Amino acid sequence: MPDCLFCRIAAGQLPATRVLETERTLAFRDINPQAPIHVLVIPKDHYRDLAGLVAAGDGLLSELGRQAHEVAVCEGIADTGYRVVFNTGSHAGQTVAHVHAHVLGGRPMTWPPG
Ligand code: 5GP
Ligand code: ZN
Repeated sequence: MPDCLFCRIAAGQLPATRVLETERTLAFRDINPQAPIHVLVIPKDHYRDLAGLVAAGDGLLSELGRQAHEVAVCEGIADTGYRVVFNTGSHAGQTVAHVHAHVLGGRPMTWPPG
């Protein structure tokens, strides 16, 4: 998807602070962090949202989950705890239509979210 922000980051056409990478996934720091640690985990291929990713059914969701946990370990928040969020659709506030998991931690977080 040539005009997709996260496709362009995955392709190296736009800068991002990369944290971890596999053949099919990329983790990079959110440009507007909502917690001391705020990393986005994406598939390098384009899927609009969680539904699109699940429909593909090729194990990518599992890879994203694994990478989210590996980010937490690398960032030192696996033991204190972290939150993984897929904002999906307008009511959830999804603003970038390339599926991404937010990995948030480094401070206590409230529940439920606003
Ligand atoms: P959403 O609101 O779709 O769940 O999350 C999109 C996230 O992408 C936001 O947290 C936003 O700060 C982040 N973001 C938007 N543009 C960029 C960018 O150009 N680079 C990076 N690293 N993050 C971005
Ligand atoms: Zn994309």
